[in-house]
Amino acid sequence: EYIIETKDLEFSYPDGTQALKKLSIALEKGKKIAIIGPNGAGKTTLFLNLNGVYTPHRGQVWYQGETMNYSKKEIFEMRKNIGIVFQDANVQLFSANVFQEVSFGPMNLGLPKDEVRKKVEEALIKTDLIHLRDKPIHFLSGGQKKRVSIADILAMDPEVIFLDEPTAFIDPKTSNELMLFFDQLNQERKTIVLSTHDMDKVYPWADYIFVMVDGRIIGEGVPQELFRDR
Ligand code: ADP
Ligand code: ADP
Repeated sequence: EYIIETKDLEFSYPDGTQALKKLSIALEKGKKIAIIGPNGAGKTTLFLNLNGVYTPHRGQVWYQGETMNYSKKEIFEMRKNIGIVFQDANVQLFSANVFQEVSFGPMNLGLPKDEVRKKVEEALIKTDLIHLRDKPIHFLSGGQKKRVSIADILAMDPEVIFLDEPTAFIDPKTSNELMLFFDQLNQERKTIVLSTHDMDKVYPWADYIFVMVDGRIIGEGVPQELFRDR
């Protein structure tokens, strides 16, 4: 069962850069999936097309088997169900303190106040940040900021979590802890899709790997098959 599928997806930026070129991919539900590719391959652009921030210029997208036409209603659903944790936490975080920051998503979904509070508290407990709930964002370490940006997404309780280069700018120890935490999220039946240019990081972690180069998927498979010579 695929949670997201695309066929011949195309997307260009206003300056003419073709970032996605007839890209076809199928993401199996509940798996730990890695998309490996060099900087500029189009990984971030793909994520932004799949969660409705951008609208594809050509091609098809299915979410839970349904064709997405990127109507207002569908875009709202996609943003709610498909969360992106951005590479640079400083881009994603803009509120004064941790609690306000993580409240923003569920508040935007129009949830009642006590429901928002509950979701935020759950997300802060999961990410081990509850003791920092009233701290200003700028007070936090890089690893803590990364966890806040993950809590942001968890508070919306998405089905799919896209992690865009999640261990960039993070020290090795914290980065290993994050990878274990992503396993834990996956055990709660969330589909995890992680982009990286670092094969060593995901080889022991991923159930399934896609290789992306220049706007296209050029290979896929289980890690041992895809990289036999390792
Ligand atoms: P086999 O190696 O027996 O042919 P597959 O290659 O179909 O089996 O699948 C191996 C593993 O990769 C399974 O855990 C399967 O769920 C997972 N997998 C296969 N295709 C995808 C996909 N498109 N997205 C995510 N996971 C996948
Ligand atoms: P990745 O996430 O794999 O590093 P991106 O999706 O960020 O790749 O970028 C894909 C291509 O699109 C690159 O050539 C990049 O320079 C270009 N690109 C990304 N964002 C923009 C933008 N806002 N305007 C123009 N080109 C962009």
